[in-house]
Amino acid sequence: MSDWVIEPPELPSVSVAGGGRFPVRRIFCVGRNYAAHAREMGADPDREPPFFFSKPADAVISSDHVPFPTATRSLHFEMELVVAIGRGGQAIAIEQALEHVYGYAAGVDLTRRDLQDEAKLLRRPWDMSKGFDASAPIGLIVPTLQTGHPACGRISLSVDDAIKQDGTLEDMIWSVPEIIAFLSKLVALAPGDLIFTGTPDGVAAVERGARISGSIDGVGTVSFQLV
Ligand code: MN
Repeated sequence: MSDWVIEPPELPSVSVAGGGRFPVRRIFCVGRNYAAHAREMGADPDREPPFFFSKPADAVISSDHVPFPTATRSLHFEMELVVAIGRGGQAIAIEQALEHVYGYAAGVDLTRRDLQDEAKLLRRPWDMSKGFDASAPIGLIVPTLQTGHPACGRISLSVDDAIKQDGTLEDMIWSVPEIIAFLSKLVALAPGDLIFTGTPDGVAAVERGARISGSIDGVGTVSFQLV
């Protein structure tokens, strides 16, 4: 007999390449981590330490069909390298940071840009522009045994076969070890945490029906249609 007063929610998870499932505990995201994207968002990439926002764990979706969200007229894609944390820790040193990584995936940080613009203007939180249902489409998580620690591959995204984002991981302002070190000073990282590491330039609005396909060299792909 259990004490739950309602049915406990299903644990969000992501499939792992080669078999098994990765349980998702939390989703953290880095803002403006590529200089050209920071500039297209009207920010100065040179003077800003990394900053973070989050999405609920159950925002992950690995499906060929992703529901177009309510309450937006400007749904933007942001193609991102996702870090899957396999070992927790606090105030992790940069030199040890990669030992905490289980694997990597290709993911998309879907964003209600109109609500985010309004939130920025009114100095309100970003939650409803970033952390809505199904706002974190993600491909397979690939263990580091297969990927190593990608730091220089191509990261790209196309919409209906037209390339919209085409960057390289080398252009990240803050590297994966630096992000882990920084974030673990703010929260105790735990196994199951995902970190979306920011997007190259080229973000834009998409319509219902669009097919979004992203790829990161040496990591994998993410592909879905907005329905
Ligand atoms: Mn993003």
